[in-house]
This record gives sequence, C-alpha cells and structure tokens, in this order.
Amino acid sequence: MQFVPEKYALPDVPMQPFIDAAEIEQYLLSARGDTACVQEVVRKSLAKGRLSLPEVAVLLKADSPAAVQLIKDAAQTLKSAVYGNRIVLFAPLYVGNYCVNDCTYCGFRATNSEAVRVTLDRRQLIREVEALEEQGQKRLILVFGEHPAYSPEYIAEAVRTVYAVKHGAGEIRRVNINAAPLDIDGFRTVKAAGIGTYQIFQESYHRESYKRCHPRGPKQAYDNRLTALDRALEAGLDDVGIGALFGLYDWRFEVMALVRHANHLEACYNIGPHTISFPRLQAASHGDTGGAFAVPDEAFTRLVAILRLAVPYTGLICTAREGGAVRREVLRYGVSQIDGGTRLELGSYADMHSGGVQNLHREQFRLNDARSLAAIVDELLDDGLIPSFCTACYRKGRTGEHFMEFSVPGFIKRFCTPNAVFTLAEYLEDYAGDALRQKGYAVIENILAADADNALADDIGHRLQRIRNGARDVFY
Ligand code: SAM
Ligand code: SF4
Repeated sequence: MQFVPEKYALPDVPMQPFIDAAEIEQYLLSARGDTACVQEVVRKSLAKGRLSLPEVAVLLKADSPAAVQLIKDAAQTLKSAVYGNRIVLFAPLYVGNYCVNDCTYCGFRATNSEAVRVTLDRRQLIREVEALEEQGQKRLILVFGEHPAYSPEYIAEAVRTVYAVKHGAGEIRRVNINAAPLDIDGFRTVKAAGIGTYQIFQESYHRESYKRCHPRGPKQAYDNRLTALDRALEAGLDDVGIGALFGLYDWRFEVMALVRHANHLEACYNIGPHTISFPRLQAASHGDTGGAFAVPDEAFTRLVAILRLAVPYTGLICTAREGGAVRREVLRYGVSQIDGGTRLELGSYADMHSGGVQNLHREQFRLNDARSLAAIVDELLDDGLIPSFCTACYRKGRTGEHFMEFSVPGFIKRFCTPNAVFTLAEYLEDYAGDALRQKGYAVIENILAADADNALADDIGHRLQRIRNGARDVFY
C-alpha cells in the first residue's frame, strides 16, 4: 500500500547552502555574450581550463548564430581532445517505484493513484539482470523511488544481488545508484556494497521552483538534497553524479548552478562530480510538464555544449528521455555516456507486460529512444565512435581524486581507448550478429592503424587476439 505521510520530519542541515541565486542572476545579467567575448572564453576552455561562473555566463548569454556555432564547434574539439571517440554505455534498472514524495512532474508521485506500484523481489531482480546481461550490458544504474522500504541496507542488498548474477558470458561490472539522499551512515552502507556512482539530481537549484514542484514528503527539504553529495563524500564515496531536471526553471540559471555545484565539490573535497546529467522534462502519468520553462531542442543542444566547455573533465550523460536525433547531435558536443536498450517499466527487461507499447501508469516518464542496445552500438559505429562498456578505472581504484590525476592527455591513448576497444571486442564476440561484428572490427582496425605508437598497437593487438580466443575482462 502506498504510504503518504501528511507531515514528514525534515532533516536539519548543518552546512551553509552554497547556491547563491542572487549571485548567479547578477552574473547572468551583467555578462556580455558577443562573439568577441565568447571567443575569449572558448580559448580558455580549449586550453582545458575550468571556467569561472562569469565566464560560463558569457556562453549562456551568447545568442547570435555565429556565437552559438563557435560554442558548438569548440565543444566538439574539446570533447575529442579529452574523451577521444569512446562513448560509455549503460542501462537503467528500476527496482522499486513506491514513493512518499509528490514531485509534480513524476509518474511515481505519491498522489498518483493510477501508478502501478511494484518492488522487484529478489527472484524478479535476478531475472531482470539476466535479461540485461543477455543484451550485453555491463554497467547498470539501479533506480528507486523514495520510501522507507528502500533503506540503505535494502539498496546495498540489491547491489550485491546484481553483482552476483553471472548469466552465460555476462556479468555486471559496475552498479551505479539513483535514489534518495541518505545520511552519512547510509552512504557508508551503500559504499560497502561496492557501488560505482551515487547520483542525485537537485531537479531545480532555484528555491522557489523547487518548492513549487515538491509540495509533500522529505524531498521538500531543498538543503538536505543540495548537501547530500557532501555527505556521500564525507562517508568516503568518491564517485558522485549531479544533475538538474530541465524544464522546471530557466535553463541558464540551472546550468550556472550545476557548474557552481561542481566547483563546490571540487573545492571542498578535491573531487568534482564524476558525471552531470541534464534530463529534460517528459510527459508522465499525471505529471505536470511545466510549460513556461520548457527547453527547446536548440537551447538543449547548446546547453550541452556549454557544459562541455565549462567542466572539461566531467562526464556528461544523456539518457533515452531524448529521441535518437537529439542524442546523436549532443554526442558530438560532449556527451560521454548514454543508455541503450532502455526499458522503464518495472520488470520489463525479462517480461514485457505492455507488449513493447509504453504504458505511462507503469513508468516514470515517456521514453523517446526505445532502440535496442545493438541498434545503438550500430549507430555509434557508423559515426566512428567506440561503444565502450569499460569499468577499468573504477576497478583499478582510479576514481575520485585519482581519477582526476589520470584525466590528463596521454591517459586516454594509453588506457581509455584500448580498454574501450577491449570491451567492444568482447561485446562483438558474445552478443553481436555477423554484420555488426564486421562493422565493429572494421572500426577497431581503423583505430589501431591510426596509432603511431607501434609497441602499444602491438600489445593491444595481442590482447584482442586473446579476446577472440575466449579471454574476457581484459584491461589495462
Ligand atoms: N526517487 C529518486 C529521486 O527523486 O531522487 C530517484 C529519482 S528518479 C527515479 C530519477 C530522476 O528522474 C529524477 O531525479 C528526475 O530528475 C527525473 N524525472 C522524474 N520525472 C521526470 C519526467 N517527467 N521527465 C524526465 N525526467 C524525470
Ligand atoms: Fe518519487 Fe523520485 Fe518520482 Fe519524486 S522523482 S516522485 S522522489 S520517484
């Protein structure tokens, strides 16, 4: 039964909030977005400098087609310099959609009596993971509503269950989490289960808009949510993801606040967020899709390019909320991770209740890219990108502070590109049809041929041969 408390004890937050709306608005007001100013900021960014808030405001103010093009071109250049050609693939796995909050935009909101509520039991969870492993997935993000039943211990147990599922050639090597904010002990509990990234989106950094969209439940507490990842880092988690739900308030304000949040984490803990997400509001069962602050495609693609320039070393995630064409475009400007083969209905990787037709009462929001993982891999290869299932840094301890140390030129060539290629080869061997396998190996051949470092190319070639001969989980 759904649990909707009238009153909820809102936690005390002992730290000073670090988002100063007046400061952000002042920067946006005073910035000049002419081409000359944009050129200057872009130059700094291309030298891989992290941008200050006034500099980000310049990019956000730029409106002329020439200035916008300058931003998008620069983001494209920076993206290939920092990330190379690889795109990390993952899938979301909804574990439970009971929720005590009433976020106005979400199909799982507590007052939505038409929502079909499900918590996967252990057997169902295992079946979902098996189905995902059959697609070739190696990285999952487990998603939970906010409910007393989804305690840190419960989340940790779900994570352990997922890691233990080895089905055919498959295994899940990295489990990320998107769930409610925890206290420090709670974050310690989920860390002990070996999670990757803990992701929490602030939804809107603008207090009034946040209040409007979160009328009931513990999520009303803006400061508790804002400071959640501080607690995660204090608990020893060194891998966190931030995000904003675009469409709740002015997109320019939200971009400034995301950068401020990233700067705050880096300044206080020497660890910036591993990823930034920028979901755009989608239709949902009894969900309010806003209206006034809807972000058109043109602004959305621009904001991705601006984020790329503002935080060169932070991963950018674009999910299947977006349609295929928009995703393809933003991959050029800086997105480094996408999901593929995504299904949102609880339990639907193993059993398709709705025969593949989306039933919004069973899902959080409308999905706009329902293509299979194989179709996504195919398109990435067509675009000369390397689909990657790599988890090497995380498993070698190159995360957090260390991840930052290694995020330097040379590292990609020596580690990221070869490791991405190894995971692609595994995928091609175990899950791809003949045509896709040939296409994938042709892309791999091109990458190796372009490498001037013969010794490295030889070593990569030997490892690839081992994969063809049956070796798995090969990485530097
Ligand atoms: N219950 C957890 C929480 O709120 O933090 C998990 C979050 S929810 C399952 C994942 C994210 O989906 C939310 O943080 C929100 O940004 C996003 N979301 C919710 N409703 C959405 C909608 N209608 N369109 C697009 N994204 C939505
Ligand atoms: Fe619950 Fe999260 Fe949906 Fe809000 S966004 S209603 S907290 S599942």
